[in-house]
Amino acid sequence: MAKKNKQTQVDDTLQYSTNSLPPQQNNSGLYKVLAFTILAFLFSFLIRLIWVKFAAQFDDFKWNGELMINTNDGYAFAEGARDMIAGFHQPNDLSYYGSPLSALTVFLTKILPFFSFETIILYMSAFFASLIVVPVILIGREYKSVEVGFIGALMSCIAISYYNRTMIGYYDTDMLNVVFPCFIVWSLIRILKHQKLIDLCCLALFILTYRWWYGSSFALLVATLGIFVIYVLIFDRRILFNYQTIAVYLFCLSWLGFIYIIPIVIAMLALFFIFKNKITFVHIGISILIAAIIFVYFGGMTPILTQIKYYITRDVPASTDVFHFYNVTQTIQEAGKLEYTKFFERISSSTTAFFISLLGVCYLIYKQKTFVIGLAMLGLGFIALRSGLRFTIYAVPIMGLGFGFFVWEFAKFVSKNYKEEVRPFIPPIAALIALIFALYPAVQHIQNYKVTPVFDAKEVELLDDLKGIADREDYVLTWWDYGYPIRYYSDVKTLVDGGKHMGNDDYPVSFAILRPQVESANMARLEVEYTERQFSERFNSKFHQMMKDYNQTDINNFISTLKNPNFDLPKKTRDVYFYFPLRLQDIYTVLMPFSYRNLATGADLKYPYYSHSIRYNQTAAGIELYMTTGERMLFNMKTINIYMNNGQTQTFNVNTNYMTKYDANGNLNVQEEVVDPNGRFSVILMADYGRFVIVDQEALQATYVQLFILEKYDETLFEPVVRSPYAKIYRLKK
Ligand code: MN
Repeated sequence: MAKKNKQTQVDDTLQYSTNSLPPQQNNSGLYKVLAFTILAFLFSFLIRLIWVKFAAQFDDFKWNGELMINTNDGYAFAEGARDMIAGFHQPNDLSYYGSPLSALTVFLTKILPFFSFETIILYMSAFFASLIVVPVILIGREYKSVEVGFIGALMSCIAISYYNRTMIGYYDTDMLNVVFPCFIVWSLIRILKHQKLIDLCCLALFILTYRWWYGSSFALLVATLGIFVIYVLIFDRRILFNYQTIAVYLFCLSWLGFIYIIPIVIAMLALFFIFKNKITFVHIGISILIAAIIFVYFGGMTPILTQIKYYITRDVPASTDVFHFYNVTQTIQEAGKLEYTKFFERISSSTTAFFISLLGVCYLIYKQKTFVIGLAMLGLGFIALRSGLRFTIYAVPIMGLGFGFFVWEFAKFVSKNYKEEVRPFIPPIAALIALIFALYPAVQHIQNYKVTPVFDAKEVELLDDLKGIADREDYVLTWWDYGYPIRYYSDVKTLVDGGKHMGNDDYPVSFAILRPQVESANMARLEVEYTERQFSERFNSKFHQMMKDYNQTDINNFISTLKNPNFDLPKKTRDVYFYFPLRLQDIYTVLMPFSYRNLATGADLKYPYYSHSIRYNQTAAGIELYMTTGERMLFNMKTINIYMNNGQTQTFNVNTNYMTKYDANGNLNVQEEVVDPNGRFSVILMADYGRFVIVDQEALQATYVQLFILEKYDETLFEPVVRSPYAKIYRLKK
């Protein structure tokens, strides 16, 4: 039979490795795999504790006796898990209720009752991401060299990009996003080599789990199938089992819905098992045809085509809103292009190791052509050169294996020059030396990568207080960076968060933070009520709807009517809280383009002047200020000299000097001294913070400046609820 002939042929291609290893090694193989896997796993997990050792020194990093997580998005999954444990959540609260990571977390809290929720979400990434060593070592084993797999596993588990996205506290889907495709590559390599049904079962399981786990896994899965199909058509077209694999893979990829896919796939696998000798090319040909039709009919080609179009043109789909908002995608740095060295180091921790790995990948494919299956992952990783940092992690394990292969083969080659008695010791020693050099930069990176948790315990304390005050249906208005953590700690709703920050949502929020109190209060109430209405009424644009309801045709006119203290607001359905943290001051100017914008034309409005000092020097002539904007100023209570970059100096009279200082009871005292009522700038010394704030008269009126820095709130509009030097929370009275 053709199948048998082919199989011997496949085994022949492995001659290099079977010849080079003594036969008894295969018997002890399983123990060796196990020992190496445990060793690599422990290495991966324990080295991540370096961050814990650093972070544990700071009490401010802990909440409920445990370190807090350091990824913003993680709080979305944490909120989802919290709500799933409680068994309910509020309609339209945007909770990630039922998301795969939240579900896995809930499962772990059930089987590990002796660990707190905080401990589980903190360490999950380190545990699951370290599982990468398993498929990498198993792939090495397929090429009869567990050592190659082991070296590859050590290189992968702490490669810089992989570490950054899977460190302890990085509670995100990334923890398994590379592990699953590695298992898929391993299954496909085994299928090509052994044609065993059990491997096909594994493959189906991994594909379906990966699709469930990560919605964006589709592109990589399609690319991997594409490479598998090309490989089969060129090298292995006579083997029926390969076509059985293609049929199952295609069904797993279709957009039928899991409730249909899972029974179909199980039925197919069962039929393959029962009729294993009676299946013919005709049967499989028909199944592939059906699978392909279903795949295309349910829209399987659409995401492929749009993605290809996106990578070629980099066109972002235009907003459907009728107004010209400023979009946050214009500020996200991740979309920028990477420099080459950074790219090399992200994948292999050093440029040298990167090129050794690349050589190794080529050499490995030359020796073991089934390894081409890994090229889809490699390709996705290399797309980072065009599409940004976050894709590099996919290249890590493939390049790690390339490194392992090169080093191990080279060490074996060198050992041939040595006497028989010492020869077996040469490769391990050489490999160890190579590993030390290659891993050193990664370990150094880990030691220096002192990431802090998203929030500080002093802020979380306030949010915990708010949880007792606010209702679950109430809204907290603040910048989107704080959306997820606030929902987690205070159990409220938010207007914007890490996943919802299109220009039309950011505009009203930045407006409420940066504009004077009357406008801010009106905008906040409008935005909250229309956001809730939009969930049920499904209108396209909130502002369009508002203008319709208020009989307005000009957006700029409508916005200016918000200055009216007697603006007729919609009926209040819930409370709105403003959350003003100290840390917002650092990104204050980032908010300006969102709010200072002509929505009818998309043109920028004139930004008010705001900046604060990073440090200052007392000199004979006055206080020298070094500002966040990069400017240098000289301030002497009466005037401010601004030293421009072009060498010129401009002098302005100070309008008003303010000084804020907390007294022994924690109350903020504000001193105010008018210097020149026509002066352009006012100066606020935040004495407890060692910070000078320079604002023009417009920025001085901003709600954030008035409510957070000066605590001068309009009592008809706002009421302080929780106050500390780190954050202030006000309730909207309108
Ligand atoms: Mn909720």
